[in-house]
Formats: sequence, C-alpha cells, structure tokens
Amino acid sequence: MSACRSRRDFLAWAGVAAAAVPGRAAGPLPGGSLQVARAGERYVNPRKVLLWECTRREIREAMESGALKAAVVPAGSTEQHNEHLAMIQDTASALLVAQNAALQLYPEVIVATPVPVGISPYWMERKGTLTLRRETFLAVVFDICESLRTHGLKAILILNGHGGNAEPLKSEVPGWREKLGIRIEAHSYWEAYTSENASRYMQSGFAMIPGHAAEFETSFALAAFPERVRREGVDYSKVQLKLKSSKDAEEDRRYYNDSLLAAAEKGEALIRIAVDWTAARLRDLIAQS
Ligand SMILES: [Zn+2]
Repeated sequence: MSACRSRRDFLAWAGVAAAAVPGRAAGPLPGGSLQVARAGERYVNPRKVLLWECTRREIREAMESGALKAAVVPAGSTEQHNEHLAMIQDTASALLVAQNAALQLYPEVIVATPVPVGISPYWMERKGTLTLRRETFLAVVFDICESLRTHGLKAILILNGHGGNAEPLKSEVPGWREKLGIRIEAHSYWEAYTSENASRYMQSGFAMIPGHAAEFETSFALAAFPERVRREGVDYSKVQLKLKSSKDAEEDRRYYNDSLLAAAEKGEALIRIAVDWTAARLRDLIAQS
C-alpha cells in the first residue's frame, strides 16, 4: 500500500470528527469522501454517535432498546496554541478521539456535545484565549453528566483534552459518582501513552506529551485536521509577545521549536493509540455498570 493510499485511509478513518467542531468548514477533508467510517464489521455514519446530531427519537429508541449504554463527554479549551495552531485544538482532539472510540463500540456509546472552553487563566497574556473559572467549568461538566443521567445513562466517561482541566476533573469525579449514583470516570486522552507505546514517535521526548502546541499536538493536528496548522507567514524570530515572565517566553519558544518536529505520520500513530485506549476504558465502564 502506498503512503498516499494509507494517508487517505487514515483520514477516512479518523477525519470525520473534525467536521463537527464549531468553526470548521463543512465538507470532506482532503483525501476523499468521509461520509462513512468502519465500526467493527459494519459501516456506520460517523455522525450517528454524536448526540447533537441525533433526533430525540433516535436517542429514545436507543435507550429503550438497551443498545445505548454509555456516554463520553469531551472537555477541551479555546486557547492560544502558539503561532501556528488553531485555538480549538484541545476540544477538537478530545472530540476526535471520543468519536472514533464510540464508533468502535457502536451502538453502545454516544458522544455528548463537547465543552469548548476550559480552565486556562495562565494563557490569558496571549491573545484569543478564553477561560472559565474552575467552578464554572466544573458546574457545566457536572450539569451535562446530570442531564445524561436523567435520560437513563449509567456510565459516563469524561474525556479531557486540556491540561488545565485534568486535576479539577479528577478531584471532583468521586463526589459526582456519589451524587449521581452512576459510574463516571475522567481521563485525559494522553493517559493512553506510555514510554513503551509512544516514545518512538517523539523526537522531543516522551515527557513532551501532551506539551503545548509542540511536537505532539502539532502532529495530531497534521494527521487529523491539517487545515488547523498554519505556518505561512509565521516568523517566530519577529514575534513580540511581551510576556511578563522570562521563563514563559523561553518555554513558548521551545514549544515552537519542538513543533517543527511534527509530522502527520506520527500523529496518525499516536491518535490510533489514544482511540484504542479510550475504547478500552469505555468497555470497562460498560462492563462495570
Ligand atoms: Zn493543547
């Protein structure tokens, strides 16, 4: 199989989630038609696993038949991702992993509407970043989980794509489990990676997963939604960020330099690991509920 052919297959397999993220132009990604994706032995319209694309009848019937057993709530951010990467990266990546994992388990899992803004106060010096207060973010995620529980879902995976959301979610989820009386887990999708399964793809080192707009995230974007990587006109040597902390400025430059190591092929391999890992978490969650 040629590299080109394999790239097309990957986009057909994984690219569809991006179409559902606010701000993304409708239509197929480069590489062919993306109207269907494989789920086990069946071809399934990938939008079928997205709650907000379903009608109430579809959700009601899936619940009543017992086919639908779990939900994923993707949580992301809208925040600066250096000079070259779109702000929606963390939301789009969590959604893409969630959607593809749900397709592996079709029709047992539905993907709830992603939470598109996270806890990002530390990026507010860089233009464009949106942030929620910790309590606001947690209240939104909790209310989504409670809504799903109200409809009868008994197993929820919160799949996070933004570093600043990780600790708050981990610390709150045990209490939510008690309060709602259902199984809820919270994981960041990069928990899928170990030095064994991911080091070989990371020239900047395993510790740079997830990093920030560096080799890992830029590779992810090049694989899944390459139009969100825009280096044309970027000259980092001329960037005037005026950051208060010299450590922040140094880190920003290091991340940018590391992003130059990114490649779509690395992103493809890393995405597949995250999707398979997330599908395994969902299987566990369903088995326990
Ligand atoms: Zn990010």
